[in-house]
Amino acid sequence: MWRTIGQQGSTTRLSRSIAEGTIHHAYLFLGPEHVGKRTLAIDLACALNCEGGDPPCGACRACSRILEGKHSDIHDITLDESGSAEDLEIEEEGRKRRTRILTEQIEDLQHASTLPPYEGRFKIMMVNHADRMTDAAANRILKVLEEPPAQVVWMLLAENESRLLETVVSRCQRVDVHAMPIPQLERHLVESCGAAPEQARLIARISRGRTGWALQALKDESLLSDRVARVESAIQLVSMTFSARFDFSRDLDAQYRRERPRVIETLDQWITWWRDLLLVKSVCAESVINIDYVNELNGQAQRLSLEQIRDFIGKLNEARHDLDLNVIPRLVFDALLYTMPRVGNPAHDVGVQPVVVQDRSET
Ligand SMILES: [Zn+2]
Repeated sequence: MWRTIGQQGSTTRLSRSIAEGTIHHAYLFLGPEHVGKRTLAIDLACALNCEGGDPPCGACRACSRILEGKHSDIHDITLDESGSAEDLEIEEEGRKRRTRILTEQIEDLQHASTLPPYEGRFKIMMVNHADRMTDAAANRILKVLEEPPAQVVWMLLAENESRLLETVVSRCQRVDVHAMPIPQLERHLVESCGAAPEQARLIARISRGRTGWALQALKDESLLSDRVARVESAIQLVSMTFSARFDFSRDLDAQYRRERPRVIETLDQWITWWRDLLLVKSVCAESVINIDYVNELNGQAQRLSLEQIRDFIGKLNEARHDLDLNVIPRLVFDALLYTMPRVGNPAHDVGVQPVVVQDRSET
């Protein structure tokens, strides 16, 4: 049984191709972060190697070993986002390693793919964050996809199609993984996961339909408390002095070196906050995501112009893009916080204690 929810079109198509023996040598799973791409790819790996009657059965020896991460024919590579102390000493090299899939990683997979499967029917070569390959790595994988060995299935997982070589995309069977409609996800959280209706309503919205995030938030309260800290920082930053903002930027930069994905999540949640301000300002408040902060949204929207809000959403998107392009993070954060509209009396230069999302690498 496919564990993936809300992707029936894709799972039906994949099941049919396995039943008919029309398996492609490479699949490209495309969709936003935490939407369920990896769950679907692992399910497909199970289905291709399943020894049960209705693949993926999730219970046979092959499925169990894959789900436990113990199957020797599943190889995967990802970004090294942990940021080791050594990386930090070699700043440039460390930043590259945390933000790019490198040629040597692809070469390691390529080498592994030349050997026959050890315990299953298919060897699976999984490239997480495939849209973050260096140019050299992308060209290397292109060669690999041109002459695929039999019994090897490549799975590329990516958020942004425009950052992949067209020739790579065209050599893969594309599988779009969509965010779930929020009302459908809300219902699923209540009916299948036992969430309280109010909790489901909030989580479904904050997740923006990303099922992976929503299911994790039900199990791990720290996701919700981190989100509260991020919203509080979005509220406080607009009334902070510029010097307090630069202190905030320094802290954000330090956190980025250790825990890049958490800072990216902070920027994404700021984007949802500012979009909510735009919705409130445009009298579309029923569509806001941060439904537990309606009073704060109303208060802040009254003090900002539509133009200020719209411009700053543009700056947030630019910052997100610049970080993807490996621009020096401190410059990105400084520029972003400098251009954030400021409300309150600038002559009254009172700094506000910033709320920083806890850095988990230090705990
Ligand atoms: Zn199975």
